[in-house]
Amino acid sequence: MIDFELSENATNQQRMIHALAEQAMRPIAREYDEREHEKPWDFLTMVWQLSGGNPIGGGEKRPKEGPSERNLMMCVSIEELSWGDAGLYLSIPNSGLGGAAVAAAGTPEQKERFLARFSGGKPKWAAMAITEPGCGSDSSAIQTTAVRDGDHWILNGTKIFCTSGLMAAEKSEGFVVVWATVDKAAGRAGIKAFVVEAGTPGMYVTKVENKLGIRASDTATLVFEDCRVPHNNILGSPEVPKTTEGFKGVMATFDATRPIVAASAIGVGRAALDFVRDTLKEHGIEIRYGVSTHRLTALERDFMEMEAQLEAARLLTWRAAWMMDNGLRNSLEASMAKAKAGLVVTHITQKAVELLGPLGYSRTLLLEKWMRDAKINDIFEGTQQINQMIVARRILGYSSKELS
Ligand SMILES: Cc1cc2nc3c(=O)[nH]c(=O)nc-3n(C[C@H](O)[C@H](O)[C@H](O)COP(=O)(O)OP(=O)(O)OC[C@H]3O[C@@H](n4cnc5c(N)ncnc54)[C@H](O)[C@@H]3O)c2cc1C
Repeated sequence: MIDFELSENATNQQRMIHALAEQAMRPIAREYDEREHEKPWDFLTMVWQLSGGNPIGGGEKRPKEGPSERNLMMCVSIEELSWGDAGLYLSIPNSGLGGAAVAAAGTPEQKERFLARFSGGKPKWAAMAITEPGCGSDSSAIQTTAVRDGDHWILNGTKIFCTSGLMAAEKSEGFVVVWATVDKAAGRAGIKAFVVEAGTPGMYVTKVENKLGIRASDTATLVFEDCRVPHNNILGSPEVPKTTEGFKGVMATFDATRPIVAASAIGVGRAALDFVRDTLKEHGIEIRYGVSTHRLTALERDFMEMEAQLEAARLLTWRAAWMMDNGLRNSLEASMAKAKAGLVVTHITQKAVELLGPLGYSRTLLLEKWMRDAKINDIFEGTQQINQMIVARRILGYSSKELS
């Protein structure tokens, strides 16, 4: 049964992570937005030690069989962290997107081999590299190749805009999950995911992006030049079937990660709403709940509409996470949550800047930063349009060939 009340465990965790966000993230949020390519090592090390390398809020080290609260708790926690600062949250060392791909598509042996490192030692990152200069939304157009050579695969190609790519590939003992084709003629059926360990010869970081928002998080270009990885680093079965099963397996990563992106968006939106509410209060303006609509001011109506939209996005997100926790297929709900949250947070943060006028626009406050940080939620993990299209396909029963 779905229940809209968080458990005591989840509420306690939410409270703890909120305190971390307020005390350790907010005070350095502006500084690491300005110093884009520097890392807040004290913060990162503290969080690594606190979380024991688990995705923060994830609770269990690795997904257990059967119902749990793991995904819901992650969403609750990530909303709090992103309320603190979305860029800093994205830069926290953990198994991240790369780990999610291993969890979704790896064999039990691969999960052990690649994920165990996140439970101790020095901070580590894992990343996932899909996007290329000529391919983003349409991942079936991937040009990076993987060619079998005895006990190895040889990877060649370029990946761009890889979150935590620098930290995963060069600055820690992490790894990058790289999507490549083993047979271009086979289209989607030829696409497989390969784990490339940090420091593997032939993998280079050639660029770290300067960005509009989430500037504390590194976003890298990775080049693969005759990069050799062991045969059993292909995610899933080392036998390469000529079907789309492998592709579907790695695509399932998004069922887990889209609710997380949505939760992060909601955290940024809530930060903006909290700030507007507090500022209005300081100026003697209280939002009057319960007053009939025709007596509300335009400002009150705008504010309540933003709150309602944020709550709608949160409920969609929690539903998608709850479904995962209960072993239900949630591709439709994950895309719904991601599309809604991306749209809502973009609108809320822009409106918040507008409502507070010069205060909203000033770099002395964080509101303008939240507006910049919000936009990424409409771009990565499938753009707004792509997630809307997935929703349409699933509701109308079209295949990707029929509706693209
Ligand atoms: C900060 C940042 C971090 C990122 N991190 C990662 C990462 O860790 N790993 C990774 O692999 N990638 C990452 N990306 C890349 C991101 O996932 C892609 O930018 C995204 O998938 C869009 O791909 P594209 O940029 O090639 O745009 P395109 O696919 O060329 O799309 C351009 C525009 O066209 C629209 N569009 C495309 N196809 C359709 C369609 N069929 N119908 C309607 N509209 C359509 C899109 O919605 C978009 O508005 C990151 C990007 C950024 C900015």
